[in-house]
Amino acid sequence: MNVQDNITLIAGPCSAESKEQLFNTASELKKLNIKYFRAGIWKPRTRPGDFEGVGSIGLKWLQEVKSTFGIPVATEVASTKHVEEALKAGIDMLWLGTRTTTNPFLVQEIAESLRGVTIPIMIKNPINPDLKLWLGAFERFSMCGIHHLSAIHRGFSVYERIKYRNNPNWQIAIDFKHEMPETPMICDPSHIAGKRSYVQEISQKALDLNFDGLFIESHYQPDKALTDSEQQLSPSDLETIIEKLILRQRINADEDEINEYRNQIDVYDENLIQILKQRMEISKKIGEFKAKHNLSILQSVRWEELLLNNLNNAQKESLSEQFALQLFKLIHQESINIQEDILSKNTNNESR
Ligand code: PEP
Ligand code: MN
Repeated sequence: MNVQDNITLIAGPCSAESKEQLFNTASELKKLNIKYFRAGIWKPRTRPGDFEGVGSIGLKWLQEVKSTFGIPVATEVASTKHVEEALKAGIDMLWLGTRTTTNPFLVQEIAESLRGVTIPIMIKNPINPDLKLWLGAFERFSMCGIHHLSAIHRGFSVYERIKYRNNPNWQIAIDFKHEMPETPMICDPSHIAGKRSYVQEISQKALDLNFDGLFIESHYQPDKALTDSEQQLSPSDLETIIEKLILRQRINADEDEINEYRNQIDVYDENLIQILKQRMEISKKIGEFKAKHNLSILQSVRWEELLLNNLNNAQKESLSEQFALQLFKLIHQESINIQEDILSKNTNNESR
């Protein structure tokens, strides 16, 4: 199965730098059968003084890419002035960058400036992991009568050093799909990755999660790129990645078999809830005992014993240590919350 026939593939450089750079990149990407050619004209930079994009002249170059290679073109808009210029230049698709989605005033203004326009719009997730803010941006566009919308998942900014440049937090994209199942979800593996060597694994993960498209940065000379050089791929490296991607079937071929397993999972999950309920009932009793005897909630020796014991048991059952550790920390935290509640009620009663 050909990946490009099944998902929307959008590719192009992070920034338009020169007509030559756009043409050299587009002529190679054309062979990959991409649906849209992307390039940023106005670049939102973290600090002033970095390359901030070529500005309006880049729109003319994009028009020429479109007429020469026949590939529809897309660019980022971050103000109503950008929208006006991009529409005048006949750009085929627009996207809101992550920093723009974060600002509801700006989203509102941009949405209003696009009233009555039928070109597709893509909205990147906000820079912080806030599902409601992302959904809110879609609501603002819908309220202006704009419905050709797609979401781009590009990961969320974090202060800590992590493997990737941005934390994918896949659950937020999954929750978004749950809230707006009709909206196509596109993954931007380049901005999640930060490094070109991670683009393959992130793209595959997106396909495994039934994403509808990929939005990938590609530059004919990535090492010379003026922005996001480390994450951009040469068109030939991009081709290799696309060839390696595996498309999975959305509906399992043998539904009876998978349904049988799913029914079993449902039963186990119900049992889990029941067992957790019973466990928390006992935690409550311990809380009442601690309140009566004025004992502190955290008994470190007991907690360490319990954790060790459970990690050993989990290991015997071939469950991963990381999973068991997280699970028991979560259960222990909930016990503490329950007991804290009991102790504070008790203290309030005494002080009355
Ligand atoms: C981009 O796509 O080049 C870009 C600036 O992305 P983001 O808004 O995700 O940082
Ligand atoms: Mn970029």
